[in-house]
Amino acid sequence: MSHRNGALSAARRRGDLEALAAGEAVDVLVVGGGITGAGVALDAASRGLSVALLERRDLAHGTSRYSSKLVHGGLRYLAQGDVALAWESARERAILMGTTAPHLVRPLPILMPLTASVSRRAASTVAAGMRVGDTMRALARTSRTQLPRPRRAGAEEAWRFVPGLRRDDLRGALIGWDGQLEDDARLVVAVARTAAAHGARIVTYAAVTEVGRGEVAARDELTGEALVVRPRHVVNATGVWASGLAPGVKLRPSRGSHVLVPAERLGDPRGGLTVPVPGERNRYVFALPRPDGLVLVGLTDEPVDGEPVDEPQPEPAEEAFLLETISTVLQTPLTSDDVVGRFAGLRPLPAAEGASADLSRRHAIVEDPPTGMLTVVGGKLTTYRRMAQDVVDRIAARDGVGAGPAVTHRLALVGARGRQPAAGAPPRLERRYGGEAPDVVALADGRDEPLAPGVPASAAELRFAVERELALTVEDLLDRRTRLGLVPEWRAAAEPAAREALQAGVRAAT
Ligand SMILES: Cc1cc2nc3c(=O)[nH]c(=O)nc-3n(C[C@H](O)[C@H](O)[C@H](O)COP(=O)(O)OP(=O)(O)OC[C@H]3O[C@@H](n4cnc5c(N)ncnc54)[C@H](O)[C@@H]3O)c2cc1C
Repeated sequence: MSHRNGALSAARRRGDLEALAAGEAVDVLVVGGGITGAGVALDAASRGLSVALLERRDLAHGTSRYSSKLVHGGLRYLAQGDVALAWESARERAILMGTTAPHLVRPLPILMPLTASVSRRAASTVAAGMRVGDTMRALARTSRTQLPRPRRAGAEEAWRFVPGLRRDDLRGALIGWDGQLEDDARLVVAVARTAAAHGARIVTYAAVTEVGRGEVAARDELTGEALVVRPRHVVNATGVWASGLAPGVKLRPSRGSHVLVPAERLGDPRGGLTVPVPGERNRYVFALPRPDGLVLVGLTDEPVDGEPVDEPQPEPAEEAFLLETISTVLQTPLTSDDVVGRFAGLRPLPAAEGASADLSRRHAIVEDPPTGMLTVVGGKLTTYRRMAQDVVDRIAARDGVGAGPAVTHRLALVGARGRQPAAGAPPRLERRYGGEAPDVVALADGRDEPLAPGVPASAAELRFAVERELALTVEDLLDRRTRLGLVPEWRAAAEPAAREALQAGVRAAT
């Protein structure tokens, strides 16, 4: 296949679907277009296998767009004594920041304010953990320029980072550095397009309905037509929906909720906050400034019963908990009136104590004996590449599979710029599109005009999403290719432009 930049469009989707429906054999069929499925598709395709990925809705429609958007070095795992997992995170962070997606990950300072409620002993334990994390950073070869050494700052410096911090009892802050993703959904799209550049057929709005040995039934969700795909190996990467295709995998999802507040409510911070939850050990609420002028406040952990829903919503009690906890360190407390957007995601947790592995933090690969399908669940956005490599290693070890060695640790994703930043592109587009920013600018005759005042996206981005990033619906454009849908006011302002971009795409194709 000749699409070197991995451009995905409605026309390419149609061609891919027709080839599969016509009975083309594929080595690996991946079910699910979140970060895990996209990662498996890329790993397999870049090792020379023929690959198709079927996603029942859009790329990043599931949990992968509702994360906290951190590429983290696993400090929390260190606190829990899981050094191996922390090391895996630190290593994958180094690969993402250094090679695969440097355009999408930036360093973020995160402060733990030292107020009267944080004892000196607790502060020195956290500081010691940060030092171990820094050693892992060095061993993983992330440079000090990318992630500076953690340190203690005085109160004045802490206020310079976060002017909204309360002033009465602040004696300073511990500052650590981690990676922050520009946008989790953009990472998924970049991985999927890179897989497409290696020949993978990426088909959205195609639901898998049944998996048999060597035969998988699916449905085109746009036309309702049924089709049968003939893969040699199947990978189930459907996250919290995994047991729908693999009944032996029992999950009990947990909801993690976030709210968005205007950055000015915390004094336009240059760094994030991590704040201990009063009365609990080792539990924190964070506030992370984002380049779109908002601060993300998270995170809750609420068990959810029954079938996982597609668009989970935060409960009012979760919102109140997040606002109250973060307000313990702020000069002016946040209230629900400050909240401009909210979202929740579901973690795939094992249904019962003592299940095969702690799926919340580690990934697990489970084989379904009758069909040979491999289900992969758990893990993190940060570790998607390693998960994918482990799955494809399992396939490569089977008889008759001619897969080459894994190469994704040195494979730049679509848009990862080389040593030179793209000349002349606006910084916002540089951050989101990396080396492809000039292509977006070219669609806008050199301008980067917002769709409406204060709405952080342009008509050129919508057009680019239709032409190259497989946006097929208004929701794809507003909720995944841009993230305007997170703020209802932005969504309403951008909807007519999204409709127009889709119609222009249809006109151009006919
Ligand atoms: C609240 C929260 C915050 C998080 N924060 C972070 C963080 O800051 N950093 C980090 O590294 N990790 C974080 N994580 C973890 C990370 O988000 C997840 O591990 C990851 O997104 C899971 O991706 P996935 O591809 O396995 O699942 P999903 O993204 O859910 O993808 C599964 C896909 O399968 C599709 N699908 C389902 N059934 C079918 C079918 N029958 N046919 C075809 N397609 C189907 C779904 O539509 C979906 O798109 C967080 C998780 C949560 C819940």
